[in-house]
Amino acid sequence: MKIKEIRAAAIRSPEEIRLNWKHPKPDPGRPGQGGHRDTWIWANPMSGYPRLKVDRSLWRMPQSPRLACVVTAEDGTWGLGTTDYSGAVAPIINDQFAPVLTGEECTATEKLWDMMYRMTSPYGPGLASCAISAVDIALWDLKGKLLGCPVYTLLGGPARDQVTCYASGNDPAWHVEQGFRASKLFCRAGPADAAAGLDMNEDLVSTARESMPAGTDLMLDCWMGLDLEYTVRLAERLRPYRLKWLEDCLMPEDYDGYAELRQRIPWQPLGAGEHWFSTLPFFSAAHRRTLEVLQPDINWVGGITATAKICHYAEAAGLSVIDHCGGNTAEGQHMAMAMPSTPMAEFGIGVSGVPIRESFQRYPGTAVPEDGCLVPSDAPGLGLEITKEALEAATA
Ligand SMILES: [Mg+2]
Repeated sequence: MKIKEIRAAAIRSPEEIRLNWKHPKPDPGRPGQGGHRDTWIWANPMSGYPRLKVDRSLWRMPQSPRLACVVTAEDGTWGLGTTDYSGAVAPIINDQFAPVLTGEECTATEKLWDMMYRMTSPYGPGLASCAISAVDIALWDLKGKLLGCPVYTLLGGPARDQVTCYASGNDPAWHVEQGFRASKLFCRAGPADAAAGLDMNEDLVSTARESMPAGTDLMLDCWMGLDLEYTVRLAERLRPYRLKWLEDCLMPEDYDGYAELRQRIPWQPLGAGEHWFSTLPFFSAAHRRTLEVLQPDINWVGGITATAKICHYAEAAGLSVIDHCGGNTAEGQHMAMAMPSTPMAEFGIGVSGVPIRESFQRYPGTAVPEDGCLVPSDAPGLGLEITKEALEAATA
């Protein structure tokens, strides 16, 4: 079956295809929800610039709509893949990939991924990986529909009965109440905040640890906001709280920094990778064993094909892959269901105090965690329940 058309467009009206697009009002009394206990400033790469550190929206790329990519086969069957940064990514798909890939065999996901990877080599990765992700995920959805089976079956079949999720957000008590057994916080202070920031970070972690029952795990995400020396000092301060892993501490390309960190705090497991693009950084990290947890984002790293390659590298090295927010998307859920090297999926909780089913922004057909676990749809492809008409309305 040949590819008849590849088309990418911005999702300008997400409410047409996305459930809970307008979050219900959060409980303002809960941490991180704008109430009296909300004093969160995340450590971030711009923390050294006082004017910009307080709010990431002051310096991040202006919010552009998410992108939907539809790949249509000769018989009219179609698959859907999504990514971010639609303004920059749509031309890569529509102007570069579509003319070359149209007419190719649509089930040849390895070959098509290789073609896109090589075509973007003069300027990639980064945004090119986002473009590859959207096309690749659409191709897997399409392949599942053509063959009449869920994507996790195409990936080798279920490796487990259900996917265990951990919750991300700054309200571990709520996470535990919702049935999660592991919770991840976001670091508040970085090197620019000096010793007072270290106290603030320790206070965050110690308070969270006290609120969590025995047998639960706690992690800390530093979102590129630290440096090598600060990370060592922070890890030493936090050692009594037994963090399951410390995440995303350095600037993304500082691969040697991660290798040195691994040597200097050997007792603290490390995670990173949501800001790594394409497969080679993961291959290197697995080969050097600089991290315990590889965290690609399936919608940015190069899609299902890239993430499957990364899972195989990790398996060979005895490491784990836990996709960035993999529990929040159908594609991440299918990947976590199928891969032996994926012990958990991240589930980002945007709103505290509101049941997940009512607050989880998702495409219909995406599974919702119950008691911290989920089972992906067994419908063909990704199992998304979106009609062509609704998609056209969303991207008009
Ligand atoms: Mg993270």
